Amino acid sequence: MRTSKLSVWFDTHSKDDYIKCWDNVCRGQWEAIFIACGAGAVVDTLKNKKHIGCPQHAGKTQSNYRGLPTHKDGIFNVAAVGVCNTCGVKKGIHHLSWYLGHENLKKTRDFIKENMGWTWGYILGDYSLDEELTDEERQKLEAKRLYEQEKRKKEEETRLKVQAEKDKALTIFLNKLNTELFSTCIPLSDPAAEPAIKYFLKRGIKLSDLADLSKSIKFSTGFDVYVHNESFGSHMSIVSKVENIEGKLLYPHRIIIDENGDKVDLPCGSKIKGSAYPGRDNRGRGIKPFLAGACVGVSEGLEVALAAATTGLPVEAATDAISLEQWIAPPESVIVFILEDKDLPSKSYPKEGGHGRAAAQKLAKRLIKEKKVPIILSPQFDIPEGSKSVDWNDVYANFGLEGFPKILLNWKDLIDDLSEGSLSEAEILKKYDYSFSYFEGIED
Ligand SMILES: [Zn+2]
Repeated sequence: MRTSKLSVWFDTHSKDDYIKCWDNVCRGQWEAIFIACGAGAVVDTLKNKKHIGCPQHAGKTQSNYRGLPTHKDGIFNVAAVGVCNTCGVKKGIHHLSWYLGHENLKKTRDFIKENMGWTWGYILGDYSLDEELTDEERQKLEAKRLYEQEKRKKEEETRLKVQAEKDKALTIFLNKLNTELFSTCIPLSDPAAEPAIKYFLKRGIKLSDLADLSKSIKFSTGFDVYVHNESFGSHMSIVSKVENIEGKLLYPHRIIIDENGDKVDLPCGSKIKGSAYPGRDNRGRGIKPFLAGACVGVSEGLEVALAAATTGLPVEAATDAISLEQWIAPPESVIVFILEDKDLPSKSYPKEGGHGRAAAQKLAKRLIKEKKVPIILSPQFDIPEGSKSVDWNDVYANFGLEGFPKILLNWKDLIDDLSEGSLSEAEILKKYDYSFSYFEGIED
């Protein structure tokens, strides 16, 4: 019920003021709010960095959504950011409202108010608004608030302790599992790795054209495929290490194949990512088989990375669009080739090129800020009918090196030609047939 003082407040304040009050009061308390409103599972994803099924879309995968512990807008407690690979990024009250499936924000605000036990005075920052309360009631309320606060703090401490124990057990389990998987692995140069050699050959990639890959990529002669505690049998696979920016293993990436080098379509897919170590920093993640230099390339898929690497360029595979967006260039690299996937437009990425192009452009924008020179390479080919995308491996499989743009084939000259006092922009355009549309951005 609104008291008269409260009505006056609403009459004399704008909607923006009202929203600001809510922002202020929720800021710094989002974890407690999510827990109190029955969305504690989101808070759990922050600590164990594990994805859960998206609450709002019936995705095929059960591990496509999680809260983000940190985001450019702040830590979760401040900004409440979460992301579903399909639905995109959600923030603050919009995030909670979306998670709970509320039809509008009013319902979410009422829900928070009730579950957090807040009064209008507390939310709007003026206890005199709680006119209906006597002094005694106000004191009681304040005492209750403090009690709840203390209770939440203790609950949080217990939760963290339990989580830490779970994390420890999971780490031990993953160490054992990964050690077992890697013990079945042989180098791709081993004659018994023929299925892997065939797999790449079917995509036009001769492994003999590439530097030694065994730091990151090997062939497993057979190991159980486990996804979410379900077993899909023992299979041979191409096993790659997905490493973080410090070169630590995050999880193995497996392409499940048969003895002919054909992908095996299991109900869980044919490209399987292992579980990530809890708490391990996953920034800059990717498959990194080559020593990076002044020039480096990055793609989504491993096949694109290896196709482009036949030019001698060290190329890393971020493994998916979101990881490409978040990829971090090695400190020694100045020029970054982004080998974009051209995807069909989707609901979340309605522009031409879809998610693949959007991710490449986001990465390029960040690299410019970091004083790197991004070179986006988009496959200028139509997406084949019945297919969702076309990538540089498709191009390479059909046309070989001739399918690649001049600038990629001549990447070794770039550092010299781009340095000050060398070729003019027109000369560069002529030599490489590439227009640096980002030039204004990268000159300081
Ligand atoms: Zn979703």
